[in-house]
Amino acid sequence: MHRRTMILAVWFTMLSTSLLAQAPIPDWCRALPRPEYKSLERVPVSDPWFEVYKPASGVFAIYEPHQAEETIAYLIVGDKKALLFDTGMGISDIKKVTAELTKLPIIVLNSHTHDDHVGGNWEFTTVYGMDTDFTRKNAEGSHEDAQAEITPDQICGILPKGFDPKAYATRPWKITAYIHDGDRFDLGGRTLEVMATPGHTPDAISLIDRAHGLLFTGDTYYPAAIWLYRPETDLDAYAKSIRRLAALAPQIKLVLGAHNIPVAQPSVLPRLVAAFDAVRAEKVAASPESAGKVLYKVDDISFLMRAPSTH
Ligand SMILES: [Zn+2]
Repeated sequence: MHRRTMILAVWFTMLSTSLLAQAPIPDWCRALPRPEYKSLERVPVSDPWFEVYKPASGVFAIYEPHQAEETIAYLIVGDKKALLFDTGMGISDIKKVTAELTKLPIIVLNSHTHDDHVGGNWEFTTVYGMDTDFTRKNAEGSHEDAQAEITPDQICGILPKGFDPKAYATRPWKITAYIHDGDRFDLGGRTLEVMATPGHTPDAISLIDRAHGLLFTGDTYYPAAIWLYRPETDLDAYAKSIRRLAALAPQIKLVLGAHNIPVAQPSVLPRLVAAFDAVRAEKVAASPESAGKVLYKVDDISFLMRAPSTH
């Protein structure tokens, strides 16, 4: 998924607490909480910026409902180690949350390196990365994408105490080692396998826990409009990647995406392929969204994409 890139200067001045309190409540915020969360076990944590749920045994979904991305990071716990799949927005302290959930050593892996998934990377000592130039560039940190995440239309409720909007940026992090398609992480009693699923970004991966039937799909699939409009998005690669995921559907019990809602049924994966094929075959009408972007909708699956060129 991704953020808008511009705006900024005007909003900087509006971000003083008093003005933010007067900002109109964005539509996406009015729709919360999403009904799917009612049936999930909630795990209390001390930081009100995060909500934590337990969608499967040994899996914590760390959700950020106060920002429009509604990013979800996953802490996947084995007997000896835990793996944190994404580190959220970096608006509040995700490391502190993970320390309340497990005492085991934590390794970090990112579903991809868009700013809303790597915000807390800098806090951790072991961060694996895909061996791509896109990953290396993003690990240098950035300011602009982060700033676009905290305009008043992107915030639901209040920012964490002590958060400094002007200083907010994606902080650089060190890549400990590179990972590749097929690599496995043994957490003790739980093995996670890396599947390269490029498309949304060149470094997009999914994680499979075969023994427990779990598939973590990052931004390759989540139950909301899938953002496929950025320059780094490769639609041919995406088409191939979702086929690989769909082939796994019979072995999977639960699909866990990186935004909005942490649970989806595996039957959505073959439907995702069919929906995307229909879009690419120009069988789906495009409805205009913001400048240069259109939304394609096939039943409950939708894609936010670049508007087709008119010449
Ligand atoms: Zn993304």
